[in-house]
Amino acid sequence: MNAFWHAAAALLLCGALSLAVPVELSPQLAAVILLGGLAPDVDNSKSNIFRLIVGSLAVCAGALAYLSLPSESRILGAIIAAIAVVLFVLLIKPRHRGITHSFLALAVFALVVFALTRSEKLALYGGTAFFSHLLADGEFKLA
Ligand SMILES: [Zn+2]
Repeated sequence: MNAFWHAAAALLLCGALSLAVPVELSPQLAAVILLGGLAPDVDNSKSNIFRLIVGSLAVCAGALAYLSLPSESRILGAIIAAIAVVLFVLLIKPRHRGITHSFLALAVFALVVFALTRSEKLALYGGTAFFSHLLADGEFKLA
């Protein structure tokens, strides 16, 4: 299933949840639902969420190297730093539909949402969106 359908599944399940647990619409709610619906595929190098995160990390590493190195080696250092980050992430990336497609990852995601927002409802909606991804992929393992 691609990102569009995972996002649609997350919206559908969270819409159903809103009938039982009403919540105010907000940008934070939209972000939590979208992230929850897409986050499990961070282990798939062909997914949009993977490309977004790894691309952001590579840009940050390149920018850090560019700003830190002497002027004569800035550009080459930035390119090497960006490539090194991509290679490192590809090296440590778990197999697709591994631990990121588990109830353990769901619990971690919901706890991170709660820690960042201090909102039980946002954590519940994030966990529900995450669950919609597991449901759509047919993955129901604990860890
Ligand atoms: Zn998936």
